[in-house]
Amino acid sequence: MKNKKYTIVTYGCQMNEHDSEKISWLLEKMGYEWTDNKKESDLIIYNTCLVRENAELRVYGQLGALKNLKRRKPDLVIAVCGCMMQREEARNVILSKYKHVDIIFGTSNIHKLPQLINRYEQTGKTVVDIVEDDRETIEEVEANRKYSFKAFVNIMYGCNNFCTYCIVPYTRGREKSREPEHILKEIQELGEKGYKEITLLGQNVNSYGKTLGYDYSFAKLLREVNKIDGIERIRFMTSHPKDLSDELIKAISELDKVCEQLHLPVQSGSNRVLKAMNRKYTKEDYILLIEKITKAVPNIAISTDIIVGFPGETEEDFNETLDLIKKVKYDSAFTFLYSIREGTVAANMKNQVPNRIKHERFQRLLDTIYPIFYEQNLKYMNKVVEVLVEEVSKNNDNVLTGRTRTGKLVHFEGDKSLIGKLVNVKITTVKSFTLEGYII
Ligand code: SF4
Repeated sequence: MKNKKYTIVTYGCQMNEHDSEKISWLLEKMGYEWTDNKKESDLIIYNTCLVRENAELRVYGQLGALKNLKRRKPDLVIAVCGCMMQREEARNVILSKYKHVDIIFGTSNIHKLPQLINRYEQTGKTVVDIVEDDRETIEEVEANRKYSFKAFVNIMYGCNNFCTYCIVPYTRGREKSREPEHILKEIQELGEKGYKEITLLGQNVNSYGKTLGYDYSFAKLLREVNKIDGIERIRFMTSHPKDLSDELIKAISELDKVCEQLHLPVQSGSNRVLKAMNRKYTKEDYILLIEKITKAVPNIAISTDIIVGFPGETEEDFNETLDLIKKVKYDSAFTFLYSIREGTVAANMKNQVPNRIKHERFQRLLDTIYPIFYEQNLKYMNKVVEVLVEEVSKNNDNVLTGRTRTGKLVHFEGDKSLIGKLVNVKITTVKSFTLEGYII
C-alpha cells in the first residue's frame, strides 16, 4: 500500500514553525510522506496563529476553500492546531461553521497527534483535544528540521508579561524554561550532525532561567552553548527590552559564536503608549539600551517590532515613534497595524484609533523606515561578509541566497553544492532589504 501524504500550512512565529517541524517528525514516524500539493494530501494540518487578525482570517478562508476538496475526497483528514485552537471562541467557530474539520488540538499536546489521528479514523467523529500549559511531554518529540545546517531550539515556553495587546500569555501559558542540560544536549547532537547555526527560541529569552528554581541566566546559557563543537553561529529571539541585562550585553560582546544581531521589539516610541501597552520601559530606557549594546558590539544589526494605531495613540505619540526610529536607525523591522485581539486588555480600550488614521500613519512609518534600512545596508558596500548559504533563489536557479552574521539576506551566483556552507561574499549592490555580491 502506498504511503499516505501530508501537508502542513504554518502561520505565525518561529515557535510555530518549529512546532510544525515536530509535527512533521511525528507524521513521518507514522509512515506519512510530505507533499506540497493539498489535492494529493491525505492529511492537511493548519498550524495557526492568533497574534494578528489577518492570520486568523486567512485560516478561516483556507478552511472554507477546503470544503469542496473534502466533499470529493471524503477520506481526507483535516486538522487545525496552534494558538488559535487554545481559544475556546475560535474552536467554537470551527466546530460550528467548518464541520469538515476532523481534528482540533492545541499547542501543548502535539505529541498526542498519532493517537488523535487513530481515534478519528476509528470513530469518524471530530476529535478535540486541548490541554493548558504543559509542554514537558513535548520534550520527547524530535523535529523533522527544514534545513540540515541551521535549526531552531526552544529554550522556554509561554510568557508572563501580559502586554495589553498580546494574546500569547493566554494561548501559550505561563513562562517556563527548559532545563539547561536538555537544551545543551539537543544542541550538542545538532553540532555532531553538522548543524552550523542555531536559533534559541522563546517569547522572552532574556528572562530564561527564572522558573528553574536555581540560579541560571540566559547569559550563562549562551556561554555554555558557545562551547559546543560544530556550532558556529548562535542567534536568539525574542528579547524583551526590560530584561536585557548588562550581564547579557557582556556575553553577546564576548562570545565569538553569538551573532551580531539583536531583535529588540520597541512597539512604540511614546511613553504614554508604552505604559498603556504594559511594556515596563520608557523610550529613554530603550535608547539607553541601544547605546549600551552598540558600544559593546559596534557592528550589531538591530531589528524591532512596531505597532501603529494602538488605542489612544495620538499624532504626538506617533511622532515620538518616528523620532525613536530615526535615533535608533534600525536594520529591519516588523511593522503592524494594531488589530483588536479579543481576550486582551487593549481590546476593551474605548479609544480605538480609526482605520483611516492607522493606515495613514502606517504609510508614514514605512516612508521613514525604508530609507533607514537602505542607509544601514550601505555600510556593507564593497565589504566582504561571511554568508551561510541557505538555498537557491526562488527567481533564478543560478543564484544562491544566504545570511550574514548580522542577519542580512545576500544574493550571489554559485553552485547549489554550497548550500549549508560558509562562504565569503563581496557586496557590490545594496538595496533596502537585500545585498548582492559575488563569492571571493
Ligand atoms: S512579551 Fe508581550 S508581546 Fe511578547 S509574547 Fe509576552 S505578552 Fe506577548
